[in-house]
Amino acid sequence: RRAAALAGVSGPGATRDGHAVALLANIGGVDDAVAAGAQDVEGVGLFRTEFLYLSATALPSVEEQADVYRKVLEPFGSRRVVVRTLDAGADKPLAFANLGEEENPALGRRGLRLCQAKPELIDSQLAALALAARDTGADVRVMAPMVATAEEAAWFASRVAAAGLPKSGVMIEVPAAALRSRHVLAEVDFGSLGTNDLAQYTMAADRMEGELSDLLDPWQPAVLDVVAAACAGGSETGRPVGVCGESAGDPFLALVLAGLGVSSLSMAPKKVAAVRFALSLHSLEECRALADTARAARSAADAREAVRAAASPEL
Ligand code: PEP
Ligand code: MG
Repeated sequence: RRAAALAGVSGPGATRDGHAVALLANIGGVDDAVAAGAQDVEGVGLFRTEFLYLSATALPSVEEQADVYRKVLEPFGSRRVVVRTLDAGADKPLAFANLGEEENPALGRRGLRLCQAKPELIDSQLAALALAARDTGADVRVMAPMVATAEEAAWFASRVAAAGLPKSGVMIEVPAAALRSRHVLAEVDFGSLGTNDLAQYTMAADRMEGELSDLLDPWQPAVLDVVAAACAGGSETGRPVGVCGESAGDPFLALVLAGLGVSSLSMAPKKVAAVRFALSLHSLEECRALADTARAARSAADAREAVRAAASPEL
């Protein structure tokens, strides 16, 4: 019966009362793009671009990069594709732009910090994306990983504008950026919550450490409070805030996130149908009440349990 109900809902994501929540795919390469492009998704909310650079011995030319980007963009036609610029660091080192070993790679010169140290990396990537966007007519939006401050967001936005790309955004995955989102988002067009890193940095728990999975749980009320802070800055500045961490693919948590004010959810394509179904069963007001319920809980387990109990019994 549930499978039939799931199959009965298709198209753009929306709550029962018609509040839009875009359902997007996370992809990491050309094969993913071809597969996701054929699915019922509204576009891509996170295209991880590391695959193009991590195994290369030299920085690929702009034309080489553009060739790959064209192949990734084509399957989506006029649908949006949010591209995350290079997120390398001491844990994912580049042979051609290595800043050396670090004691704490997660807290080191990764993501946008590495690109600020080596601007040729980001400038060649943005030039290639601008070429691919022009040639495919795709709706490309670029965002930077590991942004902590408004100055960093402004630096990125200026590089994006210089490359001739129309829209810039930031990942909100550092608690500082979430708490100061009003200022960070004012510099760009949109934000996207990376709940994997946001949980890691909020809970001070290494995401590679399986023993710490309870602390890394995105249902941790502290993580939800930080997400709420990010969304408040989004509504103050009129900037849309989405989620592209794994948490977006949990149908119950998706309801909470929608209730907190996120306008898009990006996930593994196979998870989209269940999230679409969950949204279709609840009004925005009900999602807001579920968000309050989750944030009022004293533990991650209590939050999950309380939301399950209060959500529609059809889910
Ligand atoms: C995240 O941090 O939540 C995220 C989406 O990016 P990644 O998992 O690639 O760090
Ligand atoms: Mg991340």
